[in-house]
Amino acid sequence: MPGKLIYEGKAKSIYETDHPYEVQIYFRDDATAFNGEKKGQINSKGILNNAISSLFFELLDSRGVPSHFIRKIDDRSMLAKRIKIIPIEVVVRNIAAGSLSQRLGLPEGQVLPRAVVEFYYKDDKLGDPLINNSHVDVLGLATPAELEFLSARSLKINDILKDYLAERKVRLVDFKLEYGKSDQEILLGDEISPDTCRFWDADTNQKLDKDRFRRDLGGVEEAYQEMYDRLKG
Ligand code: UDP
Repeated sequence: MPGKLIYEGKAKSIYETDHPYEVQIYFRDDATAFNGEKKGQINSKGILNNAISSLFFELLDSRGVPSHFIRKIDDRSMLAKRIKIIPIEVVVRNIAAGSLSQRLGLPEGQVLPRAVVEFYYKDDKLGDPLINNSHVDVLGLATPAELEFLSARSLKINDILKDYLAERKVRLVDFKLEYGKSDQEILLGDEISPDTCRFWDADTNQKLDKDRFRRDLGGVEEAYQEMYDRLKG
């Protein structure tokens, strides 16, 4: 039985456990986009995102990337280390899409010559603005050394996920990571799922992620299920 509700996010709820340094993360079916302006439900999303995130965290752990993930508890929940989230969203991009295409005028689908790393200030009231190293420093969000670590770690995660997904006929277009501190250690946190990544089918470029919800493309549940099936298969 989960304990007291600690925090309710847009798609996940965090509960206390019997252990002060561990939390239960419950994945709901709620879906939001455009900083919460668009709201909906995606059937079984919680189950699929919990399963997909668990699988990715296990993969990363096996490749030497620690995260908050301890183990999957049930269909919709995972047990995780309690961390203090660093309010920086790290986005890694391999292919132009979404806000990068809009901001820089690069056609969606253009392969980038090198992976691009971006930082966003995690603040809903401000709409998660894009920030640079100086902003991070001035806002006191992380030290320059910590930011360098986040950047290098995120690129390593990109290498691992990109290869793993390519073997499953999926192109990793871009994704968002969050990190947190437990004691002084920085751990990967949050989730890695079709909510937080862009996945395109390698042959057809069919979208297998939340863009189907954002852009009203239909087949949303089917896309999440397809991603899970490919990762499992
Ligand atoms: N992303 C996310 N949460 C956010 C913003 C972005 O998980 O609050 C993910 C998004 O799913 C995509 C990547 O980060 O995989 C880059 O998103 P982008 O900046 O293109 O923003 P969008 O077009 O989704 O508004």
